[in-house]
Amino acid sequence: MDFLPIFLNIKNNKILVDGGTMVAARRVQRALQAGANVSVFDPELSDEFLPLLDDDRLTHVARVPVASDYIGVKIAFGASENDGRDAALFKNAKAAGALVNVADVAKYCDFIAPSVVDRDPLIIAITSSGKTPVIARILRARIETLIPPSYGHLASFLGGFRDKIAKKINNLSSRRHFWENIIEGEVSDRFLSGDENGAHSLLNEKLDLVKNGNTLEKIGEVYLVGAGPGDPDLLTFRALRLMQRCDVVLYDRLVSDDILNLVRRDAERINVGKLPKNHTMQQEDISQLMIDLAKQGKRVLRLKGGDPFMFGRGGEEIQMLSANNISFQIVPAITAAMGASAYGGIPLTHRDHAQSCVFITAHGKDGALELDWKALLRPSQTVVVYMGLSNLKKLTDEFVEHGADPKLPAAIIENATRPEQRVITGNLSDLNKKAKAANIKSPSIIIIGDVVKLHSQLKWNVEKKGDSHKMSLQAQKLL
Ligand code: SAH
Repeated sequence: MDFLPIFLNIKNNKILVDGGTMVAARRVQRALQAGANVSVFDPELSDEFLPLLDDDRLTHVARVPVASDYIGVKIAFGASENDGRDAALFKNAKAAGALVNVADVAKYCDFIAPSVVDRDPLIIAITSSGKTPVIARILRARIETLIPPSYGHLASFLGGFRDKIAKKINNLSSRRHFWENIIEGEVSDRFLSGDENGAHSLLNEKLDLVKNGNTLEKIGEVYLVGAGPGDPDLLTFRALRLMQRCDVVLYDRLVSDDILNLVRRDAERINVGKLPKNHTMQQEDISQLMIDLAKQGKRVLRLKGGDPFMFGRGGEEIQMLSANNISFQIVPAITAAMGASAYGGIPLTHRDHAQSCVFITAHGKDGALELDWKALLRPSQTVVVYMGLSNLKKLTDEFVEHGADPKLPAAIIENATRPEQRVITGNLSDLNKKAKAANIKSPSIIIIGDVVKLHSQLKWNVEKKGDSHKMSLQAQKLL
């Protein structure tokens, strides 16, 4: 390691910034945030300084700094982009015993100004040791997206309980365990979803359960999480957080491997979509299994394809949990219709083509489709059909029999949002034939309506999507 990472206390210290550039403004802003008294030297300041100039602790001196300006200075930042000024700054600052950093000039740097993720009081500083600053910046952006903006508030909120918890739980490892449960559990979830009062009372309840310095809690939780249509980039932050926290995951057939790879490595995996001899687990058995696991104190992740409440039987599972007093949370996701629409380049509504959109399932019992044809055949409407592939011929025929134009455009999107996605377009009279010819398989979703015409214009590069997909997986692993 070429540098020692430390966080300096510079409250009320003198900081000198040479330059009126944008970089200078950023240095000034950070120093002010950290409570320093800052003098900025330059005849002219850029617009980025405007919001900073009201701060009493900032002094603007409209000239280049001279040796006497450095007396008592703790840190001198050079950001004038002028070689002569940088050299003078370095000489004068060192003579006065200050630490020096000149932007992008390694030979004048005692230390590096890192890329910062600011979730005050949580601060994450990243550096590439001066080798590739752009990597540090990209990584910073990635980390920004992984940590909810309110995480800093959470740290402050929990910090308020520190003494109380330390007094009540004197055993060190119990205390750490308690903290982990709070930070990774329901208390934080409530706080982060905006319910500070709820988080407060829940934390107190949990503390009340502590007896003789030990925690007694042993009741698990179920997370009903939507995994989206396949591309891991489409997961929500909350989904990812819960995926990385669970003790056991129950997943079904539609959850892609790329997504399963993001579940905490040592979590137990149960495939409820596939039993030996190709049987699938019955709904009641899945719900019972979740209840049993939660009662053992486990954090159970129920991971479902798409959105859990869109043709996903999530409601039924939650009813069972609720009847058994198991606590749960539900995380919505991009449903297959949305994923197929965006990645297939077929908007579901468009001012010139469709003013409404309906989602139906064509998974009729015994092959019979029980659909409200009058509602489905409204003009200027898009119909999205889930689970319609096995009944495709019947479905398209019946549309026509009930009065739809045989030339009404229709599309099938197979494996929507995944690298192997395929889109077949046609119309009601030829879609089935085309799907057979292309050997289209499940999971596939059908879009019927004028909007399908837009596909040729709006489709976009699948290969590119594959790349960004791989990159994001690499970044996840990196983190
Ligand atoms: N809860 C899920 C839907 C479950 S029903 C959601 O919100 O998406 C299962 C049906 O969803 C499949 O038969 C198929 O029609 C559709 N589906 C799910 N994932 C898909 C994908 N990646 N591509 C195309 N269709 C998909």
